[in-house]
Amino acid sequence: MPLRPASVTRPHPAMRRIASVLLAGGLSLVWGPLRAEPAPAGARWQHLTTALFFTSEDVENLLAKPADRQAALEYFAPLRLSKVYLDSASGDPAAVAVLRGIAADLRARGLQVSGAVVPAGEKGPLCYNSAEDMALLEGRVRVLAQAVDEIIVDDWLFTTCTCEKCVAGRGSESWADYRSRLVHEQSKRHLIDVAKQVNPRATVIIKYPNWYEGHRQNGYDVALQTPQFDGVSVGIETRQRATDEQHIPIYSGYVFQRWIGGDAGPKWRSAWLDNYGMQGDANDYLAEVWQAVLARAPEIIFWCAGQLHPPVPASDVYPALCARMGDFDRLAGMLEGPARGIPIHLPLGSTGEYNIFGYLGMIGLPMAPTAAFPADAKAAIFTQHSLRDPQLAAKLLARIRAGKEVFMSWPLLQDLRASELGRVMNVIADRGTATSSSFRVRGAFWDTEPVAAGRPFTFPKIQLSTWPYVRSVALIREDADFGVLLSTPYMEGTVDVLNLPDNSYDLLRLPEPVLNAVRRVFFEELGVRLVGMGGVALYPFGERQYVLYNMNDTVAKVALHLPADAPLGGWRERMNGDTLVVTRTEEGREQWKQVGTEVALSLKPFEVALVER
Ligand SMILES: [Zn+2]
Repeated sequence: MPLRPASVTRPHPAMRRIASVLLAGGLSLVWGPLRAEPAPAGARWQHLTTALFFTSEDVENLLAKPADRQAALEYFAPLRLSKVYLDSASGDPAAVAVLRGIAADLRARGLQVSGAVVPAGEKGPLCYNSAEDMALLEGRVRVLAQAVDEIIVDDWLFTTCTCEKCVAGRGSESWADYRSRLVHEQSKRHLIDVAKQVNPRATVIIKYPNWYEGHRQNGYDVALQTPQFDGVSVGIETRQRATDEQHIPIYSGYVFQRWIGGDAGPKWRSAWLDNYGMQGDANDYLAEVWQAVLARAPEIIFWCAGQLHPPVPASDVYPALCARMGDFDRLAGMLEGPARGIPIHLPLGSTGEYNIFGYLGMIGLPMAPTAAFPADAKAAIFTQHSLRDPQLAAKLLARIRAGKEVFMSWPLLQDLRASELGRVMNVIADRGTATSSSFRVRGAFWDTEPVAAGRPFTFPKIQLSTWPYVRSVALIREDADFGVLLSTPYMEGTVDVLNLPDNSYDLLRLPEPVLNAVRRVFFEELGVRLVGMGGVALYPFGERQYVLYNMNDTVAKVALHLPADAPLGGWRERMNGDTLVVTRTEEGREQWKQVGTEVALSLKPFEVALVER
C-alpha cells in the first residue's frame, strides 16, 4: 500500500495561503431547492449537533475583533452551531488572556467553546524525538488548557520523520510499530499529561485522519489511542470523487464513522469533515455531510470557518450547505431502529485493498464494519484487512464448518492459499489479466444470461476447471470464462470469492445484472437487496426503513428487492415524496421459480430518499 503524504489531508497552516490557487470548476447540479431557512439567534437543530472549527488564522481574521466576531456569527447562523473549536498556534503565555476573552464572549452568546491544537511546526509534522518539537507542542497545550476544558487534537498527530534519532530509535522494528509506540508515549507525556497538569478538568479528544491505510506507518494507532484519549473524532473529508489526491469513495466516510467511531463506543464524539479545495463541487461536499448524518455521528464538525467564508474560493459550497441543513436534520429525525448491514471484518489498524469497503458500499451493499471477527453472522465479508488477525484462516474455516457464508476478496484468498481455504476451488491459472466487455451471469437456478457491458473491464485472471462449477459471474473471452464472482458450497457452509477489477472504481460501473448477482449473495442475511446500477448506496434502518443515496451524476432507476411476503401496500418515500411502484416479481422457472416484491423508484443525481413501509 503506497504511503500518502500527510499534506494531502489538509494543508499545513503555513501552506494554507496557496489554497486560493485551485481547480476551477462549474457549479455542479444540485438536487432540490437551495434556499436556507432564516435561523433565529441561538437556534439549534432538533436532531443534529453542529460545530465549527476556527484555525488560528480564522480566529485572528474572524473572531479577534468584536465587530468581526459579530459578523462571523451572523454569517454562520444558518449552521445553528452548538459549539466552536478554537485553534491556538501560540505558545506565548500572553495568548491565554486573548483566548479567554474570545471564549468568554462566545460562551455568553450560548456557544460551547473548546480548544484545538495542530501538532505541526513550520516544517510540517513533528519529530517525536526532538526536544524542540515537543516543547512547541507543550507550549501550545499549556496556553489552551488555561483557556478551555476540552482540547481537540487536529489530525497532525503523526510523524514522517526520518532523522538520525528516529532511524536509530526504530532499529530493526517496522516504521509502523515504532512510530505508533513513539507517538503513543510522547503524546501522553507532552500533550495529555500537560493539559491535565495545567487544568485538571481538561479532556483531550483525538481526531483520526481518513487515511486509515497509513495510520500506523505514521504513528496513528486506533487500538492504542482510543483507550488513551478522552474522546474520539473521526474524519470524513472524502472531497471530490475524481480530482482529489486521495480519491476516497464517498461511502468510506460512512464506514469510517461506523468502524472507528463505533469501536470507540461512548468515546465517539464527532464526525469531522471539510470543504478544502472543493469549489464548484457542492454535491461532493454535501455527500460528506450525508455520510455523517447517516452514520448518526453525535456531532458534526465543519472544518473550517475560513474555508467556508469568502474570499476563499471553496466557500462557494457554503450556500448549498446552508440550504440543505434542514434536510439533514429532517432525515436524522426520521431514522428509526438500528443501522443494519453486512458485517465486514476490519480489525483496528488493518490495511488491505484500498478503501474496498467504500466501493462495496457504493455498489449497494450496506456495510456494518466490525473490528472483532464476525463469528455469529450468517454472512460476512473478509478482505486483506482481515489478515491483521493471525488466527484468520482457522476462524474462517470454523465459520464454514458452522454452516455459515464466507465472502472474501480474491486477493485475500490468494494470501490464504496455503490454508485449507486454498483448496475450496480448483484454480488452474491465475497469472496476468483478462479484459472483455462480455459477462456471463448465472441465475439462482442454473440458467445463465450473457451480459454485454458498455465498455471493457480488466480483471486479474482466474481460470478454473469445469468442476466444481463455481462461476456465478464470469468475464467471457474466446479462450475462457474467467472468474468474477465465484460461489460454492464447502463442507457445511458456503464460500464466495469476489474478483476485484484492476481499478476498484470499476466495481461501480459493472453492468447491472453483475451487480445484482453480487447483491443476491446477502439477500438471505439482510432480507433486502438493491436492484439497479452502481453508485447507489443502501442504508437499511430497522426492519422497515431504507435510505437510498444516488452518488451518480445521472438519474438512477433502482428498486428494493424484498421477500414475496412483503406487503404491496403502505409504502412511501418520505424525503421528497417520490413515486414508488410496488410489484410482485418472478425469477427462474418451473420448480426453481422464486417470487419476490420490488419497490421501484427513480433517484435524481445526488438525491437521498427514505423509503419506508
Ligand atoms: Zn526524528
